[in-house]
Amino acid sequence: MSATGESPLPQERLARLENFGHSLRAPAYLYQPERIEQFSDLFELARRQGFSLALRGSGRSYGDAALNSGQIVVDQRRLNRVLDWDPAAGVIRVEPGVTIEQLWKHVLPHGWWPPVVPGTMLPTLGGCLAANIHGKNNWQAGTFGEHVLEFEALLPNGQTVKCSPTENGEMFYSMIGSMGLLGLFTSIALQLKRIASGDMNVTAWTEGNLENMLTAVDEHKESDYVVGWVDCLVGGNRIGRGQIHSARYLKKGEAQDTGRTLRVEHQGLPDSYFGVVPKKWLPDLMAPFMNNLGTWGVNTVKFAANATLGNHKTYRQSLVAFNFLLDYIPGWERSYGRGGLIQYQSFIPGKFAADAYAEMLHLCKRRGLPSYLGVLKRHRPDKFLLSHALDGFSLALDFRVTDENRKRLKELANEMDAIVLKTGGRFYFAKDSTLSAEKVRRYLGEGTVKKFRELKNSVDSENILQSDLYRRCFLN
Ligand SMILES: Cc1cc2nc3c(=O)[nH]c(=O)nc-3n(C[C@H](O)[C@H](O)[C@H](O)COP(=O)(O)OP(=O)(O)OC[C@H]3O[C@@H](n4cnc5c(N)ncnc54)[C@H](O)[C@@H]3O)c2cc1C
Repeated sequence: MSATGESPLPQERLARLENFGHSLRAPAYLYQPERIEQFSDLFELARRQGFSLALRGSGRSYGDAALNSGQIVVDQRRLNRVLDWDPAAGVIRVEPGVTIEQLWKHVLPHGWWPPVVPGTMLPTLGGCLAANIHGKNNWQAGTFGEHVLEFEALLPNGQTVKCSPTENGEMFYSMIGSMGLLGLFTSIALQLKRIASGDMNVTAWTEGNLENMLTAVDEHKESDYVVGWVDCLVGGNRIGRGQIHSARYLKKGEAQDTGRTLRVEHQGLPDSYFGVVPKKWLPDLMAPFMNNLGTWGVNTVKFAANATLGNHKTYRQSLVAFNFLLDYIPGWERSYGRGGLIQYQSFIPGKFAADAYAEMLHLCKRRGLPSYLGVLKRHRPDKFLLSHALDGFSLALDFRVTDENRKRLKELANEMDAIVLKTGGRFYFAKDSTLSAEKVRRYLGEGTVKKFRELKNSVDSENILQSDLYRRCFLN
């Protein structure tokens, strides 16, 4: 019996949930409603039984944003209907469980594309709006929330609200990016981007050190997309060298064969690698290289190949192949082994980025914990309350987690936090798994955190909406 005398939540609902990187495990009572109305009942159930409730999309957040240890988790993926679609105006209204994959497949044949996408097509739009995701075009296109015309939401106090930049504006700019802690998006209206072709012009080239990487990304920020792969294992002043990809949409007239490139089949990712190795084998084939020496070897070969074959060449690539490169290898994160991985993504103002990221990469090497994948992007600030973006760069670093290094990784993250904070930098809840509430107050500012708390108190005075991330980053 619960404290209220009701039957406890059914044991058969207990599920072992994980973060995307499989480095955190959190059993929770899992519900998978099919209708929006059932969410009101679940808020009520949580309230009566004295549980907190976390919302969950596809669970692609790297950290603990969609985990709620020992409490209720509500998976929204069955709410996945397209509610309205205007192919003339490129405006779509969807339920929050619609995924990026469902979205592009629906709109591409009509000549439209989601204006902002993450590096995988698996997340739900509810999850993308809650994190206010950015793409490789953040400088050009801003965050996902900047393309939302309107959303409807169910608040934990039972109210429903409609928000747009001009209607309930404060709630619009606060709920987007607030990681599902203020309410549930129940419908999302999005303005899509008109495209003339399903292909893009992509140019790839290498740069020999971190400073040149940052300069090159900055110089190409006016392309539609620009992103850098960073080698974090090479020694000395070559650390941070890498390869840049910039891409631009094709213009009308430039694109031949438009009809074909807009077909879903044209966008499909291949089933095998080099036409031979089945994709499902790849995580196992990659696993032996997931150590310092193995990744150093892979990076060295990759850099040498990129610096010679096709360096500075421009080629055509489909929108899907360019944007969702990581989906080429389903389950690639499993190659990190039993302990999984975490990602550490920091955002640093432009003028401090070269020194700060160099300090960070050298620190990782000195601690014997180099990142096996580094990704560099250019960002611009936005108006959202809990924004991660700023006028500068982000570097996302993936780290392998083992029983042996878990504690040392936490210490390393603490040391890197100090580097970020002294530049006035920021962090990103969708990726984070190590920040403390004190660090969150420092990067967001006391005033912002106070405003967020007041807003939460006004819509969720009983603190029903929680997550492991909420307790770690806002309650301590
Ligand atoms: C391989 C990979 C690449 C990625 N690349 C990028 C990238 O380039 N840029 C980027 O910004 N992010 C990126 N991400 C992160 C990812 O886009 C975000 O974590 C996103 O939030 C995941 O969506 P989801 O549906 O899986 O949500 P979940 O991870 O399940 O949940 C995320 C948050 O959304 C909340 N939420 C879910 N549904 C709702 C709803 N209906 N209403 C309110 N809140 C809700 C949850 O409570 C939680 O706080 C990447 C992730 C992976 C795994």
